[in-house]
Amino acid sequence: MKSLIHIFYMNKSLQAFNTFGIEASAGQLIEINSVAALQAVLPDIKTPFYVLGGGSNILLLNDIKGTVLKMSIPGIKIERTFKHAVYLSAGAGVNWHKLVLFAVENNLGGLENLSLIPGTVGASPMQNIGAYGVEIKDVFHRLEAVEIATGKLKIFRRKELAFGYRNSIFKNKLKGKYIITKVWFKLSKPPHRLRLAYGAIKTVLKNAGINQPTIRDISDAVIKIRSEKLPDPREIGNAGSFFKNPVVDAGLFAALHRQYPEIPHYPQADGTVKLPAGWLIEQCGWKGKRIGDTGTHVRQALVLVNYGTASGAEIHALAVKIRESVRQKFKITLEMEVNIWH
Ligand code: FAD
Ligand code: NAP
Repeated sequence: MKSLIHIFYMNKSLQAFNTFGIEASAGQLIEINSVAALQAVLPDIKTPFYVLGGGSNILLLNDIKGTVLKMSIPGIKIERTFKHAVYLSAGAGVNWHKLVLFAVENNLGGLENLSLIPGTVGASPMQNIGAYGVEIKDVFHRLEAVEIATGKLKIFRRKELAFGYRNSIFKNKLKGKYIITKVWFKLSKPPHRLRLAYGAIKTVLKNAGINQPTIRDISDAVIKIRSEKLPDPREIGNAGSFFKNPVVDAGLFAALHRQYPEIPHYPQADGTVKLPAGWLIEQCGWKGKRIGDTGTHVRQALVLVNYGTASGAEIHALAVKIRESVRQKFKITLEMEVNIWH
C-alpha cells in the first residue's frame, strides 16, 4: 500500500496549500497520485476528512484534526479525434490553466475563456467553474470518481451532474460522497465557435487591432484582463469571488431598478435577472475597506483578501458582516461561493 502513496505528512501546515494563505494544520496530509493509491488509503483515513485540489476555493476556519487528501493525479491525454471534435482527458491533479494552455497550443477550442482560473481539473466540475460567458458544462463530457464509502469507481455523464450557476450535484445531493479522479472534455476543431459576449474581451481585442481573433487571442485577452483586475494570490491571499452573483426574480429586480436605475443587470433566459454581487457590496461601502488584516480588494469588492496574518474566522466574520449589509440595503441574501472548512 505504501508504495502507492506518494507523500504522507503528519501535522502539516496548510498555509502553502490554500490561496487565502491561512495558517492551519492537518493531522495527516496525504498526496494522492493515482486511483489505486486513493482506493488503498480510503479505509484508513481519519475523520473529519477533506479533499484538496489547489486550495483556491476554500476558507479554513480551524486546524483539521483528521486527514486531508491532496489530489495530485497527473496526465493530459488526447483520447479520440473526430472530424469536428476532440476528446481530451486530464487527471484530477492537473493544474487547470495548464490544461487550457495545452488545448490552445493544440488548437482545440472551448476552454480559452476559462484561462488563468486557479486550481485543479478535479475541482472544476464541483462548482461548474465559469468566466467570461463560458462554464465547463459547455465542454464537459464525463468524469470518473471514487465513491468514498465503497472505494468503487463510477463514471458520471453530463446529464447526471445537475450543472447550474456555480453549482453541481457534488455541492448538493452527492456532497462529500465522491472524489473526482479524472475528467473528459469535448473540444472543437477549427473553425471554432468563439465566445465574445463579455465586453472586456471585445475591448482588449479591439485595442490590439484584432478583427478575426483566434482562440489564442481570446486566451491572451482573458489572461491580460484577469492579471490587471484580479489580485494574484501569490501577492495577496484570496479565493476569488467570495459570494455568488445573485439571480433574482423579475419582481424584485423591477423594484430594485426603480430605486437604483443605474444597477448593472443581466437578464437570464428564464426571466430571472443576474446582479453583480461586487456592485451590491460596493454600494454598501465595502470596496477596498480593510479591517485588521482582512478586507475587500480595491478593484473588486467581491474578492475578500488576507493582507498577511488574518485567520479564517476573521475573514468569515467579515463575510458575514458584508452579507448582512447587502441584505439590509437590497433585501438580497448573498450565498457564499467559497467552501468553508469548519
Ligand atoms: P479547492 O479549493 O482545493 O477545493 C474546492 C472544493 O472542491 C472543496 O470543497 C474540495 O473539497 C473540492 N474538491 C477539490 N478537488 C476535488 C476532487 N478531485 N474531488 C472531489 N472534490 C474536490 N472560479 C470560477 O468558477 N471562475 C473564476 O473565474 C475563478 N477565478 C478565480 C480567481 C482567483 C484569483 C481565485 C483565487 C479563485 C478563482 N476561482 C474561480 C475559484 C477557484 O479557482 C475555482 O473554484 C477552482 O475550480 C477551485 O479549484 P481548486 O483545485 O483550487 O479547489
Ligand atoms: P466583471 O466583468 O466586473 O462583471 C461583474 C459580473 O457581471 C460578472 O461576475 C458577470 O457574471 C457579470 N457579467 C459581466 N458581463 C456580463 C455579460 N456580458 N453577460 C452576463 N453577465 C455578465 O467581473 P469580474 O469580477 O472582472 O470577473 C470576470 C469574469 O471572471 C466573470 O465571468 C467572473 O465570474 C469570473 N471570475 C470568477 C471568480 C470566482 O472566484 N468565481 C473570480 C474572478 C473572476 P458571471 O460571474 O456570471 O460571469
